[in-house]
Amino acid sequence: MTDSKNEKKFPNTKTVYGPVKSWRFGMSLGIDPIFETSTCSFNCIYCQLGEIQDVTNLVKEYVPTSKVLQDFKEVIEKEVPIDVVTYSGSGEPSLAKNLGEMIKGIRKIRPELPQYILTNATHLVEPEVRENLLALDKIIVKIDASNEENFKLINRPAEGVTLKRVLEGIKLLKKEFKGEIEVQSMFMPINDKHLEDLATILKEVSPAAVQLNTPKRPYPLSWHRENRGNHELVFDYEVRELKKVEEDRAVEIQKQLEEKTGLKIYSVYR
Ligand code: SF4
Repeated sequence: MTDSKNEKKFPNTKTVYGPVKSWRFGMSLGIDPIFETSTCSFNCIYCQLGEIQDVTNLVKEYVPTSKVLQDFKEVIEKEVPIDVVTYSGSGEPSLAKNLGEMIKGIRKIRPELPQYILTNATHLVEPEVRENLLALDKIIVKIDASNEENFKLINRPAEGVTLKRVLEGIKLLKKEFKGEIEVQSMFMPINDKHLEDLATILKEVSPAAVQLNTPKRPYPLSWHRENRGNHELVFDYEVRELKKVEEDRAVEIQKQLEEKTGLKIYSVYR
């Protein structure tokens, strides 16, 4: 058990949460390799965690592998239905230096379960971060912005992080990773105007599929560990609604991106 100042504050003391129903992947068991506080190299304006507490590029061990494996064993002993294990949680999972150990440990316990990660791709330029991810089955990278200006406005990255660096990292990963790479893109009125540029980037990245999202969950005005997996839309703290792309427009964006890129595009509305 980790010694956490937050353990008194939050009833949830586990690094494993859910399973939560994912619109793409079925019953997804979340693994949180960050855990102590919200920590990310982005501070996205729509983040379901709210304002990121620690915006950082620091790759280090945030929570011991032994705790994650112990929490995982406790959940699977309950024999809940799980289709996939997804690394996400309290921030950017690839900041965890011991992520590779966690992936291998879970593989040993339940080898048949596919393991995915949701990552902002900021650290893929670093060889040790890519090495950690190679044992995964699928890597879902976030690309919301189609230029550096929008990248700063939407993702509000840590010092020194650029869209160029993100795209370079994905390119390097593609050379080494044997599983599937998908893109997840959050659409809001702010990035709706740059479809042509986004299509160019997507064609360059050439992922197996693209997921188009829009912020259906409101923005919490304070950090709660429970934000990790709250798909039930029950909040006992203050939240702010975000501007969504409406369904008709989302369908249009999907159609246009399909035409422009020839890629498989999934929309949260369908
Ligand atoms: S990358 Fe993910 S965890 Fe990080 S701020 Fe953006 S939405 Fe939140």
